[in-house]
Amino acid sequence: MSDFSNYKFGTTAIHAGAEPDPTTGAIMTPIFQTSTFVQEYPGKHKGYAYARGKNPTREALQKNIAALEKGKHCLCFSSGMGAIDAVMKLMRPGDEIITGDDLYGGSYRMFTKVFANFGIKFHFVNMTNAANIENYVNSNTKLIWAETPTNPTMQIIDIEACANIAQKNNLLLAVDNTFASPYLQNPLSIGADIVMHSVTKYLGGHSDVIMGALVVNDDKLHEQLAFIHNSCGATPGPMDSFLVMRGIKTLHLRMERHCFNGRKIAEYLKTHPKIEKIYWPGFTDHPNHEIAKKQMRDFGGMISIVLKDKSIDNTFKIASSFKVFSLAESLGGVESLINHPATMTHASIPKEEREKAGVVDNLLRLSVGVEDVEDLIEDLKHALG
Ligand SMILES: *Cc1c(COP(=O)(O)O)cnc(C)c1O
Repeated sequence: MSDFSNYKFGTTAIHAGAEPDPTTGAIMTPIFQTSTFVQEYPGKHKGYAYARGKNPTREALQKNIAALEKGKHCLCFSSGMGAIDAVMKLMRPGDEIITGDDLYGGSYRMFTKVFANFGIKFHFVNMTNAANIENYVNSNTKLIWAETPTNPTMQIIDIEACANIAQKNNLLLAVDNTFASPYLQNPLSIGADIVMHSVTKYLGGHSDVIMGALVVNDDKLHEQLAFIHNSCGATPGPMDSFLVMRGIKTLHLRMERHCFNGRKIAEYLKTHPKIEKIYWPGFTDHPNHEIAKKQMRDFGGMISIVLKDKSIDNTFKIASSFKVFSLAESLGGVESLINHPATMTHASIPKEEREKAGVVDNLLRLSVGVEDVEDLIEDLKHALG
């Protein structure tokens, strides 16, 4: 099996890239724990020379993720930030990037504290209205960086509308697809040039690996990114690649349950007397629900809530009184997590910026896991009560 375009998602997740080992028949891709590969004479080898450039375990995983994103090429990185860093290195001083005003905190930090120092200019705009993006396009603009659903206020950005603007103005469109996972949305199929994942989250799915990925269709873009990948060296090891391949084999099963539990919990919380506001794109009254319906297959298990009581003390008390949900950064694992973005994932964003984007002190973000939903609801009832 090598061409997966005719197979459905679950079959692809289990089989893409996972060829039986030709020397032993091992059904699982071996962990090629090696830094170098022996050459017969200089330059004559079996396709592998040094493991930063190419490692068979990583290669198998890259084929798998490419197939899930319906892309031609995938590169895996030692973290999601490593993947974003590689995209930024396609830029030159003077280039401009248009991105969202509700970004993953680490992306915002990298853009403003690292790449701004290299003469790259970032515009942080509300991307839910595509016209806002177009207002910032000028002759220096090179890239639109979109994240959807956004973190943590679950705005939905219209990928097709962004792709139209990118094509019209000869820009690249990159989509951080971490929150949706390839199970819910495939940006390359609706006009994006680059898909980025924090593999750490849903793809890995078991909170045991840090990894990132980029998926592209264009051969030349792949060549440029592969050059940066090997030159700058943020490549993951074979053991982590193996663990992620194992994780992905159940991605479709996990996502089904994340979505099922997410819906039940969102519905439970919607009318809860202690909750002021809930962010979940599956509600028909979510401002971007129609776009979500158009570009996503379901609505996922990421939910944010704003408590009626605005005090940070009360928010902290609730955040630390769960029994099943764990208070921790990250998301997308089998276990349910609760996070206080203002002091955890989004602490690197100045308070004023943060609050403008709705990340207030009384906001909590839930990553709904795949436990039994009755237990999760009971846990919420107790913690909020
Ligand atoms: C976690 C995350 C990242 C960063 O990925 P790491 O694997 O932690 O480096 C980027 N974007 C989003 C949306 C994330 O959730």
